Amino acid sequence: MIDVPTTWDEETDIVVIGYGFAGATAAITACDAGAKVVLLEKAPEAHKGGNSRVSANIVFWPADVAQGVAYFRALAGPYLDNIADDMIAVWATEMHANKAWLEGLGMTPVEMPYVEFPQADGAACVRVLKNGDGPIGGERLWRVIEAAVACRPIAISYQTPAFALVKDGGDVVGVIAERDGKSISIRARRAVILTCGGFEANPTMLRTFVDGLPNLYPVGTPYNTGDGIRMASEIGAELWHMHNVSGPILAFKAPEIPVAQWLNLPHGRSYLFVAADGTRFTMEGEPCSVGDFHGKVERHGVWQQQTLPTPIHMIFDEAYRLSGHIGKATTDWDVVHGNHYDWSDDNLREIDKGWIKKADTVVELARLIGISPEALEHTVSRFNGAAGQGTDHDWGRTADSLAALVSPPFYALELTPALVNTQGGPRRDKEARVIGSDGAPIRRLYSAGELGSIYPFLYQGGGNIGECFAFGRIAGINASKEVSITPAATEGCMAVPA
Ligand SMILES: Cc1cc2nc3c(=O)[nH]c(=O)nc-3n(C[C@H](O)[C@H](O)[C@H](O)COP(=O)(O)OP(=O)(O)OC[C@H]3O[C@@H](n4cnc5c(N)ncnc54)[C@H](O)[C@@H]3O)c2cc1C
Repeated sequence: MIDVPTTWDEETDIVVIGYGFAGATAAITACDAGAKVVLLEKAPEAHKGGNSRVSANIVFWPADVAQGVAYFRALAGPYLDNIADDMIAVWATEMHANKAWLEGLGMTPVEMPYVEFPQADGAACVRVLKNGDGPIGGERLWRVIEAAVACRPIAISYQTPAFALVKDGGDVVGVIAERDGKSISIRARRAVILTCGGFEANPTMLRTFVDGLPNLYPVGTPYNTGDGIRMASEIGAELWHMHNVSGPILAFKAPEIPVAQWLNLPHGRSYLFVAADGTRFTMEGEPCSVGDFHGKVERHGVWQQQTLPTPIHMIFDEAYRLSGHIGKATTDWDVVHGNHYDWSDDNLREIDKGWIKKADTVVELARLIGISPEALEHTVSRFNGAAGQGTDHDWGRTADSLAALVSPPFYALELTPALVNTQGGPRRDKEARVIGSDGAPIRRLYSAGELGSIYPFLYQGGGNIGECFAFGRIAGINASKEVSITPAATEGCMAVPA
């Protein structure tokens, strides 16, 4: 536990840690309620916005609150018992309220069809909103929220990662952060709000908490390394939903690029995926059993977390190589921040880099990538037979997606499981208070966003961003209502009309 500093370097009413949608919402709301807000962000200004900024920027909006509750309960499945009924009711109410709040900030909500679990109770309420008529992504909603932060007197400090919470008795009274290589203490007279995202970029935490996926990489921000989970745990927070991730998707991770890249698969047909034993394990392509339903798969009538038999290789022939670029990136972190790797149309540059291995025969290729030559030869020959008959008895690829791998040379690209985001973190209640392991709220500590998200299992797309706004507002309002720990404290920030 960190000692309470005798003197503080800085002082404010509310410290918000992490500038994504959740932190922005909490800061806007607290500021509008008259609190003086400092927003700490670990990344440099050019990389601000976390997963929020690089996301598809779509929001799940339950058109009816009661049906929203039913849909949430259906998706939570066996994990429902862990979530209080009043928490779910508040979630549904505030998710419904998001639309009006966002319109007030300047969003033009446009509905798009995207009901992920149409068979579930309450699914009739599902609407998914994007900002304006254009495509999804493109920071379209982020820019609305960023502008709302910019026009308020919210002090943002970039490259200032928080690394510890300061507790005095039972109250959280400040934060220790790092700026310019120095440790600084910031007193929070009313409260601290944790909004610093999940642990997508912390391989050790991913291995600890996520079963069956030992080599996961993020497609979003590399700055979310679970700092909020560590800080909250150190002062006794209870954790929840640590097992739940949106993923895996099958992607490619180049050593030189900090995040994984999406694949551009279905342009050709003579390709397949194999596990370490040289066998196929899925219906390759898009859509396929990997990557749909945010990483959950229905087997034997039961929804389960998708796992993957890594290492995985994509095997293809010369005809497939010539059919188009295999790698691409869409709305991920690398593209938004302008580092987008320009994958060559004929995939030759990636062969030169050694990312794609090449051999004259399937047997030689197998040796090159450390797979049993007999097993790979058997798999390719069986796949070629299926392509010849137009029927994939093993994994159900459709006839028009199949072609035999017959034109040498043959190639292998190692694929990696990637994830969109984690859901786990400190448990919060309906007031957005962080809950301690004794079941009581940790005083003056709030949270919002994917850090300790409410989602324990199946996930409706748009749900995370919706939750950022819903619980970001609750955290901001409740934090600003806390009585200041110093009497003559608040200079306040002028309320700015939304
Ligand atoms: C490619 C992609 C597409 C997605 N599309 C959608 C979508 O369309 N709809 C949807 O609902 N969800 C989507 N998601 C998920 C969703 O974007 C996130 O779950 C959500 O935006 C998280 O918001 P947040 O504010 O909690 O965290 P983030 O937006 O990730 O922000 C956290 C911030 O905290 C900062 N930080 C981390 N540690 C510290 C520290 N120690 N001190 C200070 N700052 C720190 C980070 O740098 C980051 O800026 C997508 C995710 C990805 C990656």
